[in-house]
Amino acid sequence: MEINNLKIKDGSNIAIVGGGPSGSFFTYFTFELAEQLDLHINIDIIEGKDFNSCGPSGCNQCGGIVSESLIQMLSGDGIILPAEVIRQGIESYTFHLEQGNVVIEASADEQKIASMFRGLGPLGCIPDDRKSFDNHLMELCAAKGANIIRDRVIEMERKKDGIILRAKNNFEKEYDLVVGAVGLNKTTLELFSDLCPSFILPKTTRTFICEIQIDENQINKYFGNSMHVFLLNLPNIKFGALIPKARYVTLVLLGADINTEIVASFLESEPVKKCFPPNTDLKSIITCQCYPNINIKGAKSAYADRVVLIGDSSTSKLYKNGIGAAYLTAKAAANTVLFQGISSVHFKKHFQPTCNKLEKDNNIGKFIFKITSSVQQSVILKSALLRMVVNEKQKERYKRKMSSILWDIFTGSAPYKNIFVRFLNPGTIFTFVWNTIGAMARMVKYNKYEL
Ligand SMILES: Cc1cc2nc3c(=O)[nH]c(=O)nc-3n(C[C@H](O)[C@H](O)[C@H](O)COP(=O)(O)OP(=O)(O)OC[C@H]3O[C@@H](n4cnc5c(N)ncnc54)[C@H](O)[C@@H]3O)c2cc1C
Repeated sequence: MEINNLKIKDGSNIAIVGGGPSGSFFTYFTFELAEQLDLHINIDIIEGKDFNSCGPSGCNQCGGIVSESLIQMLSGDGIILPAEVIRQGIESYTFHLEQGNVVIEASADEQKIASMFRGLGPLGCIPDDRKSFDNHLMELCAAKGANIIRDRVIEMERKKDGIILRAKNNFEKEYDLVVGAVGLNKTTLELFSDLCPSFILPKTTRTFICEIQIDENQINKYFGNSMHVFLLNLPNIKFGALIPKARYVTLVLLGADINTEIVASFLESEPVKKCFPPNTDLKSIITCQCYPNINIKGAKSAYADRVVLIGDSSTSKLYKNGIGAAYLTAKAAANTVLFQGISSVHFKKHFQPTCNKLEKDNNIGKFIFKITSSVQQSVILKSALLRMVVNEKQKERYKRKMSSILWDIFTGSAPYKNIFVRFLNPGTIFTFVWNTIGAMARMVKYNKYEL
């Protein structure tokens, strides 16, 4: 039972390995709670990247969409994203299918989302007065008292009363608690496996991101404040998006094991080419690209005595709003550490339920993506969906049921369970079936698929 007495005390030393969103959120909430409890703690954030630089050395590979639910949660905690962090406010989605496209607006005026860069910008970017999202969060932590150490952790060793961390530049220190916020970095996750005997790493798949550089006026003309989302019948791609960010457009491809051929098929498809000025050679204006991994299944037992893993290293939200999920796991871990304790028993009882809830919702998400994949492969279902959304534009915003379902699928703002329950609404299903029959009838009559 002695193990259950593992607690954070006055003067405790906490190491956060990884200064991405989950590491910063954990630090922020832990300082806030410690202040309420009148506890004086020391937090070191050890981060290998410099988020104040352009290109891969400052980037945590991401589409850079901050969902409205995250913006609301953050503002509830007193974290307001300053204008310098936001590259573009996103007011609508342009939904592209082979059959045509339609603009979907947020169902309420206040449902705005934002695009940002995790680092300073793509490789070769010219620094201006804009700031990186990850750097901004880290600065908030530094202002609360966190010590930022620019280094890479390469070794961890469990001792009787703590854990020793060793980093590349000869840094070495013993901590009472080590928080793993290392994203999906396999090498670092394996270091945690040695500390957490039951830990099973999250399952991942390969995605694609690139930055396309275009003149700001052209971005305003061709993209405006709309994020372009593609549901095309292309192998392996579940979802493609073009996200405007001032002088760049970020392309994100999510799906299974995305490779160069799949990327080429997407870039050469007509609906994608039509989004850009005529005769644009897309490949020649890509300034930065990578194939990062994304979570498709959460980790198991991402904790042990004096150790907890959060953010992508534990559980994320399937395909969407990973930063929002990082916020949730970081907050649950901070609450456990300050109000309960730091043994594996405490983490199992008070932290794991948050991961389980996310994972349960992801199972519903997997089912929703199965449905969207079926729609993606059927010309008739896509025509029906497109017509339904086009017809909804005649209605008041709050009555646009299918549009709001699609908005939430693309932004990741609502839990998958909530989206699924709304889809099961008899009126929504009836209208979709009705439009499907209409699409089949038009196909028979005109012998072609059209809107
Ligand atoms: C293609 C793609 C698009 C995405 N788009 C979005 C989106 O638009 N919106 C959204 O909300 N989410 C998106 N995500 C998900 C989002 O990027 C992640 O969920 C989020 O970054 C998780 O935050 P984190 O802090 O857990 O991990 P990370 O952001 O990966 O941060 C981990 C940090 O740990 C550091 N680190 C690792 N090992 C060490 C070590 N040994 N020593 C020191 N530091 C170390 C890394 O340098 C890194 O800074 C996307 C993901 C992908 C793959």
